[in-house]
Amino acid sequence: MSLDSFPRYPLLFGPSPVHPLDRLSDHLGGARIWAKREDCNSGLAFGGNKTRKLEYLIPDALAQGADTLVSIGGVQSNHTRQVAAAAAKVGMRAVLVQESWVDWPDAVNDKVGNILLSRIMGAEIRMVEAGFGIGFKESWQQAIEDVRAGGGTPYAIPAGASDHPLGGLGFAEWAYEVQRQEQELGVFFDTIVVGSGTGSTQAGMIAGFAGQDRPRRVIGIDITATLAETQAQVAKIARATAELIGVGRDLRDDEIIVLDGWVGDRYGIPIPSTVDAIRLTGRLEGVILDPVYEGKSMAGLIDLIRNGEIPKDSHVLYAHLGGQPALNAYSGAFH
Ligand code: PLP
Repeated sequence: MSLDSFPRYPLLFGPSPVHPLDRLSDHLGGARIWAKREDCNSGLAFGGNKTRKLEYLIPDALAQGADTLVSIGGVQSNHTRQVAAAAAKVGMRAVLVQESWVDWPDAVNDKVGNILLSRIMGAEIRMVEAGFGIGFKESWQQAIEDVRAGGGTPYAIPAGASDHPLGGLGFAEWAYEVQRQEQELGVFFDTIVVGSGTGSTQAGMIAGFAGQDRPRRVIGIDITATLAETQAQVAKIARATAELIGVGRDLRDDEIIVLDGWVGDRYGIPIPSTVDAIRLTGRLEGVILDPVYEGKSMAGLIDLIRNGEIPKDSHVLYAHLGGQPALNAYSGAFH
């Protein structure tokens, strides 16, 4: 099957914008940095990377006759907020399991930002005490069963819409969108930098680029503090997605690059390099990053340029995946 043969429900404005970050590039004195902006890819609740993935899951949910999307994430999950928005858009209910993944002392952490937006959009929120983990969760299973018991038809979406047969398609399509935008702009991005959590964003990109002629590096920056799991997850989803879209060859191990060094020891807790990267990008570009994901992937990009791992003649594309609503829950990091 080819990527085009999968139905896509339109949730995005269209191709997400691509633009240069000239002042940041000049400041670092190395590679030319551009950004592709999933944070403004949609008019649905501030968009983000999950909105793009959901374009491929929603048709499946509709085909199955589902009336309720059931998903899971941390209290400040961007993913569950985007599930709530997609449900509202297509006229479904959303049941969201919000786990206490992050021990962050901000007094309004469970009231503002993403969770506030999900409440506004009418989602049923279930707060659950549980540590970080993207695997199978009993609370999620329970929510699915409760929807069934209430006479509804649930459609189960795992954390980050990743461990799902269609989870990698959104960013495989992104890879082709990049190729078209490169032709329009007259530029070739030899390196992509992307934050990796539940894995299907980077995995989809790897699968999509694998079907193109010109090789490039897709560098994932781990934001989970469980590097081996992230690598395994990215590899698994990239290979499954490549097969699904008919890439026609096995992915090599060296195509799966996930680096450690900018997450700190825990998911969801900003460290000094995170806050520095957020401030620098804000000050030089007016571009806003969040303290859980993009602040960390940008810290990685900055160091990789400074230490020459990304060479001076490189054109690097930074995948801005969204996440800013969580900033409201992290005011303490910027006092
Ligand atoms: N950046 C943001 C803002 C996110 O919300 C997420 C979600 O987990 C990621 C990066 C990582 O994406 P993925 O979970 O597909 O690896």
